[in-house]
Amino acid sequence: MIIILKPEVDPAGPEVQQILNTLHYYQGVQTRISGVTGKERKVIEIYVIGDTSRIPDEEIERLPGVERVVRVSKKYRLIGRHREDLEALGFEYNGLYFDQDSFHIFAGLCAVDTPENVEAMFRALQEVGITTSRMGAYKPRTNPYSFQGHGRKCLPWVFELAGKYGIKCIAMEVTKEVHIEEIYEELERAGRPTGVMLQIGTRNAQNFELLKAVGSQTEFPVLYKRGMGITLEESLNACEYIASEGNRKIIFCLRGVKTNLGEPHRNLVDFAHVPVVKGLTRLPVCVDPTHSVGRRQTAPDGLQEIFHIAAQGVIAGANAVLVEFHPRPETALCDGPQALTLEELPHFVEDMRVVREAYLTRKALAQKYAGVSSREVQRDLPLSSACTL
Ligand code: PEP
Ligand code: MN
Repeated sequence: MIIILKPEVDPAGPEVQQILNTLHYYQGVQTRISGVTGKERKVIEIYVIGDTSRIPDEEIERLPGVERVVRVSKKYRLIGRHREDLEALGFEYNGLYFDQDSFHIFAGLCAVDTPENVEAMFRALQEVGITTSRMGAYKPRTNPYSFQGHGRKCLPWVFELAGKYGIKCIAMEVTKEVHIEEIYEELERAGRPTGVMLQIGTRNAQNFELLKAVGSQTEFPVLYKRGMGITLEESLNACEYIASEGNRKIIFCLRGVKTNLGEPHRNLVDFAHVPVVKGLTRLPVCVDPTHSVGRRQTAPDGLQEIFHIAAQGVIAGANAVLVEFHPRPETALCDGPQALTLEELPHFVEDMRVVREAYLTRKALAQKYAGVSSREVQRDLPLSSACTL
């Protein structure tokens, strides 16, 4: 059960106390108060967990300060959409806004290597007006003898360079709890020149202790990557772990799933799930074309496969793209064969803007046609135009 409070209600005020007293009268229920930042206003919600079946909605709705009560199904209690009247879970971070309508491109290195390469990347982003990046300092590698990332020691200069080029948020994977603390301390020490979004990699998609760790802090938002070998439902449940610990600032990222059926790509692209995840949850959805495709290959039409696959996600309404670049991919210490070059960045960004515009046009078209009966649509739309589209 979710109790949505009226906008003017003070979470520490007497109305909330009265609501909590009423709820605690019912044994076995636990409550948690949460502020959810929506587009128009900040909504205060009370989450009621446990056996809520005996709590009458009307009694709660009559209490002062209550706007409405929403019953939620068991699945994805906090991140789930459940009913139309629950706002998408948006959040603001370091001057940027993320929700199911926003659009951002997180472009950067797979793994931080040299200050020169990091600087070249940030400079290139500044030139195209992008303030979101990705940088791997802690790399979970399949092979124990592969480069494992520079770890904590690169953070001071990565953060300083990010600040120099106006980068506001860096997606950075953490593989164990102590990395969160390290990032926090180094950001503080550097004077917070940038922000960080903690990335949960596909290999840790069901590392529940790590999920609880990123969920129980609210300093950093979380970019959760779908598990490559588990069902969508299992990944969404893993995300619910993060939310259930208190952190609602989550982006869900599709990055392809592991099966030979995707060959010659590294993974089978799963961007058909963009609208599915947007429908099942209230989270912004990101797509990662780099790890889905896993190679640099130009198609006969002159477009790289990574561009094509990113476009598939964006035209379906993705709210972010996570994509790897490198100034000299042949020298990259991790994932070089799938990195785009800095010369390709302006083209990629322009291509994504074209597709994003197309998505917005499609959305407007859907709104125009909503409510119009399918027969009228058929009549208004000449067959030739339907075909040429
Ligand atoms: C990454 O983004 O650098 C990464 C390792 O991705 P994934 O966890 O999706 O493999
Ligand atoms: Mn990578």
